[in-house]
Amino acid sequence: MTDHLKILLVDDDDVDRLTVRRAMEQSGLNYDLTEAVDGAGALVACAAQKFDCVFLDYRLPDYDGDIIFAEMVAEHDSQAAVIFLTGENDEKLAQKMMGSGAVDYLTKAEISGTVLRRAVQYASARHNFHKQLAEMARIDVLTGLPNRSVFESVLTKAIAQAGRAQNMVAVTLLDLDNFKDVNDTLGHAAGDQLLKMMSERLSARGRVTDTVIRLGGDEFAIIAPNINDAQGASRHAQKIIDALAEPFEGEDQKLFMSCSAGIALAPMDGTDPTQLLKCADMALYRAKAEGRGRFHFFDEKMNTAVQDQRALESDLRQAVAKNEFELFYQPKVDIRTGQVLGTESLIRWNQPERGLIPPNDFIPAAEKCHLIVEIGDWVLRETCRQHVAWRDAGIPPLNCSINLSPHQLKDTQIIASVDRALKQSGLEDGCLEIEITESAILDNIKSISELLGMLRMRGVSVSIDDFGTGYSSLTHLKQLPVDTLKIDRSFVSNLPGDEGDAAITSATISLGKTFGLKVIAEGVEDQEQLDFLRREGCDQAQGYYLSRPMPAAEFPSWYREYQTRRIATIGAPAAQAG
Ligand code: C2E
Ligand code: MG
Ligand code: MG
Repeated sequence: MTDHLKILLVDDDDVDRLTVRRAMEQSGLNYDLTEAVDGAGALVACAAQKFDCVFLDYRLPDYDGDIIFAEMVAEHDSQAAVIFLTGENDEKLAQKMMGSGAVDYLTKAEISGTVLRRAVQYASARHNFHKQLAEMARIDVLTGLPNRSVFESVLTKAIAQAGRAQNMVAVTLLDLDNFKDVNDTLGHAAGDQLLKMMSERLSARGRVTDTVIRLGGDEFAIIAPNINDAQGASRHAQKIIDALAEPFEGEDQKLFMSCSAGIALAPMDGTDPTQLLKCADMALYRAKAEGRGRFHFFDEKMNTAVQDQRALESDLRQAVAKNEFELFYQPKVDIRTGQVLGTESLIRWNQPERGLIPPNDFIPAAEKCHLIVEIGDWVLRETCRQHVAWRDAGIPPLNCSINLSPHQLKDTQIIASVDRALKQSGLEDGCLEIEITESAILDNIKSISELLGMLRMRGVSVSIDDFGTGYSSLTHLKQLPVDTLKIDRSFVSNLPGDEGDAAITSATISLGKTFGLKVIAEGVEDQEQLDFLRREGCDQAQGYYLSRPMPAAEFPSWYREYQTRRIATIGAPAAQAG
């Protein structure tokens, strides 16, 4: 309690209230007094402010004092020391009042300034002591971390929040591998010291929103809210395992430890704290059985998915190091003249054992582990280099398009990368184009629009890929510095028969015209589709009907052969194979 006390007096009898008021004036205490005449009034007062001490008449007109007391704690989280006032000197009633959690009781006949001062001071000391005890009951003495008693309440709250935010809570159960050996060989003092260092590390390395709990022995639980997916939970667990794998510096030796972790996710594995702890425990058991120093999810599907992803990520890292990527180039042609205007670079992973892997099988993984920035930078440099090499070999300068992933747009280095690639390769001004998807733009329209503006100042043009599959509105289109709309393959493939797709395609073409943008159709596979697009006024086409994406080495001969058989209005170029 503070020196300036906030006191609530609850009594329905005017004379009794006056007696207490006078006695308080003579008590020599420094206080503010609020008065209430019944239980309901007392609760209203408690809702409005926190009191240090409450004088509570036991017999109130609406409820008995113990009911009001319980309500103050339950509803208003009252921490006040409660002193009951009673008219009777009745031993049984006294016991009942103290049993309800009051710190003291006074009979009204004995009230005086001195008695009240002593009662308040005593209540204050006793109350603080009780609060300390309660606090201690929730803290683990050795490590200073919260103990098992808080697990349920913290987790229940986190799960409720996750429900509102529509994300997950990870319950990670941790256990040091071979902790018993430390106790057996170095003694319990060393074991305790290790547990202390371990808990400091867990608290320091986690996120501020995590709650680290010592469940007992060398077993710890971490409740981590705001987890978006299993990958997020696995990264979190790996960080903890890595943190505990660093050596612990003892007084005269270094200890190398490892820990295993079991992860349960709410709400998928359950929403009941006891059940989740059981799930995490079973997962921990599996982690230990599989060889320690690792984590395991309770859900097997999640385990497999996370393991596959990790294997893919590590293969990708090696692929970057060994330069196992290759670019294929797909031509884009002018729909009216048939002239080749440029190419789109499409990456493949030339995996020694599995052969050519298409981008959709590895780009998402590369995005997740941020390797995409490095890979994307290579695509950019290699595309520019290749185009300059073709030009040097006598092919007229062509427009070169590359696909940029949303991550690359967030990377502040992208402008510098573009500058470097253009300078190093010596590519002509105005030849580079980037393709970005609608979803990448909508992520953060303002900063992306600034970035696109900067790219355009460098002569780089911007195309919106897979147009029509995202959610960009006319307002976005007006705001964004873009040059081209690329109609998605899914609309083109059903042309001209599908009325809906035909309508969307025609609408996109006229939208482009209205905004002064070029329109290109991707995925053109036959003459009928090409004819429809030409009729509707589409500017460019790309697709298997004109050419499949091909390795760089095949492009020059394809180009020369195409030029020789090209007719002014693409009559019927033969579909390419391979
Ligand atoms: P995208 O940019 O929309 O590329 C068009 C995809 O359609 C390519 O698939 C291309 O091979 C395919 N395609 C072209 N014409 C036809 C056709 O007539 N019929 C059919 N059925 N398909 C056609 P690909 O090469 O498998 O690439 C898939 C996606 O992977 C690309 O879609 C792009 O989003 C992404 N991607 C490719 N290369 C890169 C890259 O270097 N960086 C990034 N970030 N993403 C890339
Ligand atoms: Mg593309
Ligand atoms: Mg596309």
